[in-house]
Amino acid sequence: MTLTSALTMRERGVDETAARRILPLMPKLTRTTDGVSFRCPGCGDVHAVPTTGPSAWSWNGSLESPTLQPSLAVTSGHHASSWQLGDACWCGKDYGFSCYRCHSIVTDGRVHFCADSSHALAGQTVDLPEAE
Ligand SMILES: [Zn+2]
Ligand SMILES: [Zn+2]
Repeated sequence: MTLTSALTMRERGVDETAARRILPLMPKLTRTTDGVSFRCPGCGDVHAVPTTGPSAWSWNGSLESPTLQPSLAVTSGHHASSWQLGDACWCGKDYGFSCYRCHSIVTDGRVHFCADSSHALAGQTVDLPEAE
């Protein structure tokens, strides 16, 4: 749908809410040198996803309604597979962040967080925020 057709709908008396819903979608992904990135509403970090090269994710090519496959698992600190008991981590320190595991699946501009994510959105599906 284009802006023009949305305005036409409004002129025809279609209610405002419906007209707004078909306005052009805003980009939710940012292009990077080898792929795309997004600000993650779950862990708050930026996830960069390569869509070219040997370890590329498959991407439907849409910035506005992206689908990325397979799922994306990001771990930090004591959630990382290389972490061993006794190693230092960020939890309980004054860094303003702590270790996390973020396991997401981006489909049609929405992101589902698998239940094994360590943040508050685990098990939920939310809209990806607009790219900054
Ligand atoms: Zn995340
Ligand atoms: Zn930790």
